[in-house]
Amino acid sequence: MGTVASMRTKAKGGCPICGKPVTEAHKPFCSVRCGQIDLGRWLNGTYAIPGEPVAPGESSKSAGEDESES
Ligand SMILES: [Zn+2]
Repeated sequence: MGTVASMRTKAKGGCPICGKPVTEAHKPFCSVRCGQIDLGRWLNGTYAIPGEPVAPGESSKSAGEDESES
Protein backbone atom coordinates (compact mmCIF):
# COMPACT_ATOMS: atom_id res chain seq x y z
CA MET A 1 0.00 0.00 0.00
CA GLY A 2 1.14 3.53 -0.59
CA THR A 3 0.01 6.19 1.79
CA VAL A 4 2.22 8.65 0.02
CA ALA A 5 -0.21 9.19 -2.77
CA SER A 6 -3.10 10.40 -0.73
CA MET A 7 -5.42 11.67 -3.35
CA ARG A 8 -8.14 13.06 -1.21
CA THR A 9 -10.59 14.78 -3.39
CA LYS A 10 -12.11 17.38 -1.16
CA ALA A 11 -13.51 19.29 -4.04
CA LYS A 12 -17.18 19.56 -3.38
CA GLY A 13 -19.01 21.64 -5.87
CA GLY A 14 -15.85 23.28 -7.09
CA CYS A 15 -14.57 26.79 -6.72
CA PRO A 16 -16.96 28.98 -4.72
CA ILE A 17 -16.09 31.88 -6.97
CA CYS A 18 -16.47 30.55 -10.48
CA GLY A 19 -17.51 26.96 -9.89
CA LYS A 20 -14.57 25.41 -11.64
CA PRO A 21 -12.92 22.26 -10.29
CA VAL A 22 -10.77 23.03 -7.29
CA THR A 23 -7.07 22.38 -7.59
CA GLU A 24 -4.91 21.05 -4.80
CA ALA A 25 -2.59 24.01 -5.12
CA HIS A 26 -5.23 26.66 -4.72
CA LYS A 27 -8.01 25.01 -2.79
CA PRO A 28 -10.60 25.74 -1.80
CA PHE A 29 -10.43 27.72 -5.01
CA CYS A 30 -9.58 26.78 -8.56
CA SER A 31 -6.84 29.33 -8.85
CA VAL A 32 -5.02 31.94 -6.85
CA ARG A 33 -7.03 34.59 -8.62
CA CYS A 34 -10.31 33.29 -7.32
CA GLY A 35 -8.77 33.14 -3.87
CA GLN A 36 -7.92 36.80 -4.06
CA ILE A 37 -11.35 37.62 -5.40
CA ASP A 38 -12.86 35.92 -2.39
CA LEU A 39 -10.54 37.79 -0.08
CA GLY A 40 -11.39 41.05 -1.79
CA ARG A 41 -15.07 40.39 -1.32
CA TRP A 42 -14.54 39.94 2.36
CA LEU A 43 -12.56 43.14 2.60
CA ASN A 44 -15.10 45.08 0.63
CA GLY A 45 -17.97 43.77 2.64
CA THR A 46 -19.52 42.04 -0.31
CA TYR A 47 -20.18 39.10 1.93
CA ALA A 48 -22.47 41.11 4.12
CA ILE A 49 -25.85 39.61 4.80
CA PRO A 50 -27.91 40.05 1.64
CA GLY A 51 -31.10 41.93 2.23
CA GLU A 52 -30.38 43.03 5.75
CA PRO A 53 -33.57 43.16 7.79
CA VAL A 54 -34.71 46.74 8.01
CA ALA A 55 -37.01 47.39 10.88
CA PRO A 56 -40.32 48.50 9.36
CA GLY A 57 -41.34 50.34 12.48
CA GLU A 58 -38.18 52.33 12.75
CA SER A 59 -39.44 55.21 10.66
CA SER A 60 -42.55 55.66 12.78
CA LYS A 61 -40.62 55.24 15.96
CA SER A 62 -39.49 58.80 16.37
CA ALA A 63 -42.63 60.26 14.87
CA GLY A 64 -44.72 62.16 17.38
CA GLU A 65 -42.53 61.62 20.39
CA ASP A 66 -40.34 64.52 19.60
CA GLU A 67 -42.31 67.39 21.09
CA SER A 68 -43.40 65.65 24.24
CA GLU A 69 -40.49 66.87 26.27
CA SER A 70 -41.54 70.49 26.75
ZN1 LIG B 1 -12.45 29.80 -9.47
